[in-house]
Amino acid sequence: MENLTQCPVCKEINFIPFIDCKDYTVSRETFTIVQCNSCEFKFTNPRPESKDLGKYYESDDYVSHSKSNKGFINSLYHIAKHYSLLKKIQLINTLSKKGKLLDYGCGTGDFLNTCKVSGWEVSGIEPNDLARNTAKELLNSEINSELSENSFEKNSFSIITLWHVLEHISELDKTIETLLSFLKSNGILLIAVPNCNSYDAKIYEKYWAAYDVPRHLYHFVPKTTEKYFKNKGLSLERTLPMPLDSFYVSMLSEKYIAQEANKSAGLGMIRAAWRGFISNIKAISKQGTSSSQVYIFKKGAF
Ligand SMILES: [Zn+2]
Repeated sequence: MENLTQCPVCKEINFIPFIDCKDYTVSRETFTIVQCNSCEFKFTNPRPESKDLGKYYESDDYVSHSKSNKGFINSLYHIAKHYSLLKKIQLINTLSKKGKLLDYGCGTGDFLNTCKVSGWEVSGIEPNDLARNTAKELLNSEINSELSENSFEKNSFSIITLWHVLEHISELDKTIETLLSFLKSNGILLIAVPNCNSYDAKIYEKYWAAYDVPRHLYHFVPKTTEKYFKNKGLSLERTLPMPLDSFYVSMLSEKYIAQEANKSAGLGMIRAAWRGFISNIKAISKQGTSSSQVYIFKKGAF
């Protein structure tokens, strides 16, 4: 295990335990999330060494492995996926005129393919072999397995996106600084991360599926996300809620509660839909409390 001795956001050395969460997806091990005394950033600490993190992604079905809900959650997931791809490309096309776009952690390449069809010149990075090969086939182009200083031409991308990826990155500073070197001046960095200030996070507490330890190394809220990227010289243009995530995360959280009680999720799925709905209503009335948030940052726009 690796013990972080400094807060990844503000470098403070004192933290307090925040919550203990179990890994319900793969290992069933328990991990502690700590909170920085200075900036209140929350991060999984200690965490597996980066060389050991791979085994925590080894699951036949990362979406769900409970037979009773498998079909239901998966079907909803796929309908939601198509809808969210549409929303994502609509957003991307409002952010910049078309040029080069890099998706860091591009998975199976569905988002990149949507961008390509819309006229973007796309590049991707994906460490997972299976996902990367699917992306390569879909896009009919090379996808890098890792990021290096020479991966791309400096200052060449109009947009760099990290959709639910930031929270997984072991070498956070190095990765973000390298990515930013590839971004044009006035280019857009789009970050989507879960928000542990959301209603669903507060309701589900240690069962909240988006803590997803130990795969999620960091647990962002708007204040800490903004602080981190402002320190890297970016300015926040705007934030957007991700309304579908509250439903999906609530359903998974109910599944974990049921698993812990050795019961089937049953009625929990109805409760999840209700709580997902309430989470979105609350996020409308109080900004910065959506289950997941999109942040649009601009490079060098001071
Ligand atoms: Zn801190």
